Amino acid sequence: MASADEAAATGVFMQIFNTIATWRSHAAHLSPRGPRVFVPTMGALHAGHGALVAQARKLAGTDGHVVVSIFVNPTQFGPHEDFARYPRTLADDVALCERCGCDFIFTPAATEMYPPGQTQLSINPGYMGDILEGAIRPGHFSGVCTVVLKLLAIVQPTHLILGQKDYQQQAILRCMVRDFNLPVSVVTAPTVREADGLAMSSRNRYLTEPQRAAAPVIYQTLAWAAAEIRNTNSDAAQLSAAMRQRINAAGLETQYALAADCISLAELRGSLHPPCVLLAAAKNGNTRLIDNMLIE
Ligand code: AMP
Repeated sequence: MASADEAAATGVFMQIFNTIATWRSHAAHLSPRGPRVFVPTMGALHAGHGALVAQARKLAGTDGHVVVSIFVNPTQFGPHEDFARYPRTLADDVALCERCGCDFIFTPAATEMYPPGQTQLSINPGYMGDILEGAIRPGHFSGVCTVVLKLLAIVQPTHLILGQKDYQQQAILRCMVRDFNLPVSVVTAPTVREADGLAMSSRNRYLTEPQRAAAPVIYQTLAWAAAEIRNTNSDAAQLSAAMRQRINAAGLETQYALAADCISLAELRGSLHPPCVLLAAAKNGNTRLIDNMLIE
């Protein structure tokens, strides 16, 4: 019979930890041979998350370990956002993680991460945290950076896997890892989409039938704009206006739709050419949808 360590490394079974102390005492006995690959999530997992976990398994190999965190982080939600009603589907999440090759799930209570009465320092992501999503969701990226820094200190992975779906998030977290010299390699995994192009998201389940039918317009608009940039010398302002118009025409309310620098996320002006990233956010009823497309 395999030891706990060997069994976990070969995906024979998966273990779940709720406290930092129990995870740490277990992690102290893990073989340091292979990579420790970490996928932070807020749960309500779908095939997009599954692809990240599967990629983590591949990277970890049979010697390494895959750790997934499931934690709905209160500090990244604004006072009028969906923290309370954010979907919580732990039993399904555990099953998906196990199917995709996860070894360890870390799923702490909020009081474990943020002990009541304890001072909580936070990360200020600066300019990149104030634009785009940050302009609409003040404080969001401070909460994201703070919880990911805490999770990195707890899990101590060699690799951190993030989804391209949240382009600004991965760009800011890459800066945090670089600026604070964190000993972890960041891997950005491609966006997994539904058959009609809609980027998979835990929030898609909020959409009514007509809203779901209209939702692929964001992807279609990004694909159209990407072709424009590749084929012609599109003007940034005109392209942005045309993207907004296309998304709004489908009944959504565009919040931003623009071309930006791939690293700094600064909005581009004048004539557009690769490389750049197209970023869009729109309200579909009460549900915010975001998507992006890299033009390399
Ligand atoms: P979440 O729990 O939804 O905030 O996301 C956890 C991780 O999964 C983040 O790195 C996301 O960027 C990533 N992710 C979310 N949706 C997708 C998707 N459709 N395809 C790939 N990665 C995704």
